[in-house]
Amino acid sequence: MSKKQDIQEEEENLLIQREFDALLEDYRNSNHRQKFEIITKAFNFARSAHRGLRRRSGEPYIMHPIAVARIVVREIGLGSTSICSALLHDVVEDTDYTVEDIENLFGPKIAQIVDGLTKISGGVFGERDSAQAENFRKLLLTMSEDVRVILVKIADRLHNMRTLSSMPPAKQYKISGETQYIYAPLAHRLGLFRIKTELENLSFKYEHPDTYRELEKRLAVDEEERKIFYKKFSEPIDEKLSSLGYEFKLKERLKSVYSIWRKMSAQNIHFEEVYDILALRIIFKPREGMSEKDQCWMLYSAITSLYKPHPERIRDWVSTPKANGYESLHVTVMGPMGRWVEVQIRSERMNDIAERGLAAHWKYKTGGKEESELDKWIKTIKEILENPDPNAIDFMATFKLNLFASEIFVFTPKGEIKTIPQGATALDFAFLLHSDIGMLGIGANVNHKLDPLIYKLNSGDQVEILTSKKQKPEREWLNYITTGRAKTKLETYFKKKEKALIAEGAKQIEEALAKINLKPENEHIVRILNYYKLTQPTELYLNAAKGVLDLNDINKLIFKPQNRNVFTRYLKNPFSNTSSGEKKSPPVQKIDLKSTVKLTEENAGKQYQLALCCNPIPGDDVLGYVDEHENVIVHKRQCPAALKLKTNFGNRIVSVEWGIHKGHSFIELIEIKGIDKKGVMMEILKIISESYGFNINRINIETNAGIFIGQLYVYVHDTHEIDALCRQISKISEVNSVRRVQNLKEDEPKT
Ligand code: MN
Repeated sequence: MSKKQDIQEEEENLLIQREFDALLEDYRNSNHRQKFEIITKAFNFARSAHRGLRRRSGEPYIMHPIAVARIVVREIGLGSTSICSALLHDVVEDTDYTVEDIENLFGPKIAQIVDGLTKISGGVFGERDSAQAENFRKLLLTMSEDVRVILVKIADRLHNMRTLSSMPPAKQYKISGETQYIYAPLAHRLGLFRIKTELENLSFKYEHPDTYRELEKRLAVDEEERKIFYKKFSEPIDEKLSSLGYEFKLKERLKSVYSIWRKMSAQNIHFEEVYDILALRIIFKPREGMSEKDQCWMLYSAITSLYKPHPERIRDWVSTPKANGYESLHVTVMGPMGRWVEVQIRSERMNDIAERGLAAHWKYKTGGKEESELDKWIKTIKEILENPDPNAIDFMATFKLNLFASEIFVFTPKGEIKTIPQGATALDFAFLLHSDIGMLGIGANVNHKLDPLIYKLNSGDQVEILTSKKQKPEREWLNYITTGRAKTKLETYFKKKEKALIAEGAKQIEEALAKINLKPENEHIVRILNYYKLTQPTELYLNAAKGVLDLNDINKLIFKPQNRNVFTRYLKNPFSNTSSGEKKSPPVQKIDLKSTVKLTEENAGKQYQLALCCNPIPGDDVLGYVDEHENVIVHKRQCPAALKLKTNFGNRIVSVEWGIHKGHSFIELIEIKGIDKKGVMMEILKIISESYGFNINRINIETNAGIFIGQLYVYVHDTHEIDALCRQISKISEVNSVRRVQNLKEDEPKT
């Protein structure tokens, strides 16, 4: 070995040792039992197992597990078992060691967690494409046994996101998409607010780098002014609370770049209009002999004697905590210079729960009391997992239903309080009580008044479900439910029912064939299928069982000479390559997923297509999905369909780049709001057609009480043109807002 290599190795050893010492220091500072021995053992084992391996960034691989372990102890507050699992989390996946080896060395608990964190290597659950979903399912299965699995996984993901810059763009989209789709909501659900915010922010940074940088710059510009304002606002509070003898800390809270952007796009407002960029948090040390809740309201009273509260912006999560354990009292008050400021009031304990979620939650849990909302949620996940649904991607969708949703509170007839996601119906509630009640539900008494099961519940409703033994679920019920639990139960029911019908239909066909002395052989079945223009035997059986088909004439259709159509249809079998001409685009060549596909005008429709769900135009932040014909489908990065693709088919995501497009125009929708004064519309139209020479496709204008809302469909070449157009229109003094309307369905409710 050369001297240079020697020096490099020595330096790296030093680096590794320093990072590990920092981990031990973090652990020493936590209030866990001090089990240094097993942690050191796990470190040494992982270090030698990963020896020689490097991360993409070039640093020794072991730096990653150590970093994950540090997040686990310092940011999530877990102990030695989780620290060891974090140190060992990539050993089984990346080296020759097995879970058994881990078990022999570190015991069953750590081995179980490491197993849950190890990806299933291809093919076990069938299709390769859903492997990601399957892996996730496995992770959750282990989670329902030991929730630490998911916490270590989140720490792993957080570190990967923090170091994402060393990955190629396609990988970045895949990983940040997955993070946004699953891990951030999961962190939220588990009460890890700080981590959730960071995950979202990092995802956003990689999906929309330019917007991110721009907003960051805006925040920096206003920093000085914000500091002065904060001082002005907080000083009177500080004085007042001190004079009242409270022990407390004041903290300045800045909204994350992602939250700011989200608010801007959801409410269609400018940066300057986001009024709650700044918030103030009061963390108090509770006094003896009085409940924390009472003290929150005393602080509320003190603050609102200084600043007027906004009557509609009080959020009381102290009387009824959120399902993820969050407790806090929020109030928005009118600060100096007519600016609204949110004030968050919470005790030290509440703050700990809010920052570190689950782990802290358990720390404060006083033995065998009733199970928390969180425990209940984990139980629900377990139930969904136990339902044997072979389609892993459906499962992801169902699971996601369970992740979101701000909760509302509903009372049973006996006054028991239940939490249920916002938007849930009485039918969801019935399933929440018991699946039998759901299956047999016929109506609901909501606040002592009879309502149908499709009734959308409001917080505070008292609900009694009426049932009948004769009731049977209908397929359309699926349209009236929003909770994953009800969906799973109903789908299982219908699947079972369908299976029975298919068996019944198969029997009928068999009997009909037997009457004419035929056996249910494939060739006969195919003839019947062709006759009824069906493609799947299951369809045939289902129709037969439902009595849709006339089986009396079965001999006629079997012995009827096969017509030519059937024959030609056979020739057009899409799997045979002999047919030509009709297929839109023959597969070009295999696309290198590591490369960046250039979206030139010449290749449009040949090598790539623009997705119809989100209609991207040149200049939009986009990514490509390579379909089975090696066509690149281009989606906007924030398109919900793209999010799903990234999560489920991450290995088919390719990075794409716009070429110059000047030939083709795209129709885009601009929405303009403003004061309805004579001539405004004329002015707008003038700008569009004269100064810019854009063509207008269609116009809708609505006016109401002096306000107009105009929708203009214009032809543009790219985002630069539409941005310039919007800027120009917004200069008209009567115009209040102009925005490009993008048809992206938000698939998650605002929190
Ligand atoms: Mn890892």
